[in-house]
Amino acid sequence: MRGRVTAPLRLRIDCDALQANWRTLDRMSGAAACGAAIKADGYGLGAATVAATLAAAGCRDFFVATWDEAAAIAAQRLPLSVLHGVRAEDMAVARALAGIARPVLDTDAQVARWRDAGGGACDVMVDTGMNRLGVSPQAVREGLLDGLTIETLMSHLACADEDSPMNSRQQATFAALAGATGAQRMSLANSAGIALGADYAFDLTRPGLALYGGVPRREFAGEIRPVVTPEAQILQRRTVQAGDTVGYNATWTAPRATEVAIVNLGYADGYLRGFSDRGSAQGGTVPVIGRVSMDLIALDVGAEPTLAEGDWIAIDFALPQASAASGLSQYELLTGLGRRYARLG
Ligand SMILES: *Cc1c(COP(=O)(O)O)cnc(C)c1O
Repeated sequence: MRGRVTAPLRLRIDCDALQANWRTLDRMSGAAACGAAIKADGYGLGAATVAATLAAAGCRDFFVATWDEAAAIAAQRLPLSVLHGVRAEDMAVARALAGIARPVLDTDAQVARWRDAGGGACDVMVDTGMNRLGVSPQAVREGLLDGLTIETLMSHLACADEDSPMNSRQQATFAALAGATGAQRMSLANSAGIALGADYAFDLTRPGLALYGGVPRREFAGEIRPVVTPEAQILQRRTVQAGDTVGYNATWTAPRATEVAIVNLGYADGYLRGFSDRGSAQGGTVPVIGRVSMDLIALDVGAEPTLAEGDWIAIDFALPQASAASGLSQYELLTGLGRRYARLG
């Protein structure tokens, strides 16, 4: 648990659901091993909690973005891959974390830097068409990676959450590299890629979003359990008279006398203004009214006559539904959660 226990805002993390989601994704990965992307502080849940919980379920491959993120959880001594590779200024910490964390080499210069420094176990990212990070397949075939000790050769799908012809193009480009390097394993699929079938699993999958309750493709509906529920305390309950308004810019006008709860959650906590008049709580019975403020929202609690100052409200945060309501992506909903929550899990 992280954060002050007395905080008026908390994040309830269902660790059983997190483990169940990993087991589901592991099963869907078939013969391939299933890892976990825990970058961005475990997608906002807290990387240390997520890593320990998934390790207990059997996960053995963890992916972070930077060496800061690797150092923050290195004490758990779990195998980490650092997706952004090694810059010159990362070499000291990379050496210090040898045996725990290895870089995912992304550029020709990173490959040269790692080899010049004596190599050691590494992963390599190949760009198969996303044009984000990675070395080119042609350079790999021409011997760019010769002499490296490569644990995992990986690539990343640009459109796995859609039925796009790009998926099979990337899969074929990647599959053609089998045997072209001394890599122990190959890895292509993120969460959505796992649903594309056995041809995409290779030796290791790298889900992130779906571990945390995200549903990037219809195949996951009913399979993936929600993990995260923000809970916020009521700071004031009031009756707003017909014709009076609530919140900034007076965008909401009471059509009749209305019971309103003012709750300790706002856009600074990742509950962005897209939830104004669109969010809800307590399983849909309690709608958000008016604008989301920085630290506060207003809820129509007419359906909940007993809720009072000091009581806790469970915010509706099932990711597909919250994404549709707010216009934020499921990824943004998780990674935006911020630092003011006590994280309970
Ligand atoms: C973030 C990331 C993942 C996980 O992606 P999800 O869509 O969250 O499952 C996997 N691989 C790489 C390279 C990533 O950057």
